[in-house]
Amino acid sequence: MSEALRVLSPVPSVLQGLPVRIDRDEVLRFQGYKQGVDVPTGEVVGLFDEAVALGERLMAPRVVYRCVPIAGQSAHLIEAGGERLHIPEIGRLWGRLAAVGAGICTIGDAIETRASALFEAREFPLAVMLDSVGSAAVESLAASANDLLCQAALPEGLQVTNRISPGYAGWDTAEQAPLFRLCSGGPIGVTLNDACFMTPTKSISFLVGLGPDARVDHYFTQCRRCWMRDCAYRRAPASVTVHR
Ligand code: SF4
Repeated sequence: MSEALRVLSPVPSVLQGLPVRIDRDEVLRFQGYKQGVDVPTGEVVGLFDEAVALGERLMAPRVVYRCVPIAGQSAHLIEAGGERLHIPEIGRLWGRLAAVGAGICTIGDAIETRASALFEAREFPLAVMLDSVGSAAVESLAASANDLLCQAALPEGLQVTNRISPGYAGWDTAEQAPLFRLCSGGPIGVTLNDACFMTPTKSISFLVGLGPDARVDHYFTQCRRCWMRDCAYRRAPASVTVHR
């Protein structure tokens, strides 16, 4: 990791070396498999193993994060850093906040470049699997960043909500733009175009709420999938290997 995470960092802070766990069920879910219903063949499992080995060599996980104090808050609106974020039901979901944390995660562009080359070479099964591995990897990276923020904030008397992203849960994709103004993806090489698409495509932008009274009613499930090994605040044992 390039530097320790400061959960209240007022300037963009770049983090590298966060753990990424590529879950086979999630990768297959990106390909339309239904967990517990569709059973992958040995050939598919072999393809998954090959794509994971390739993906792990190619990915370069990086996160940039910045904390911004809240200037105003109402039922469907957060004001911070001169930006207005219109997020349905956010007052009810997150409660009273002291600040928001804006972050951008990416695994770089090498996986998508290789997947495109595989498509051109008509190696479709591996190309599709590698693309799904990339999608699962960046999701895992965003989850890791959320966990790290949670653990860094609790000793400061702050709670960190679950992350949300423009384009999900009714939050307009167009608000990628104000989110990027709060925390530019520039330090980790992520850009946003006029249509609010990020490059590299295997990138995720997110917002979390912070504060002593921020609503976190998902600790039980969050702790079960969280890897933070020495967290004194853990509410439930981890259901996967704890890496840190
Ligand atoms: S174990 Fe639970 S309380 Fe601790 S950092 Fe992870 S999610 Fe947060």
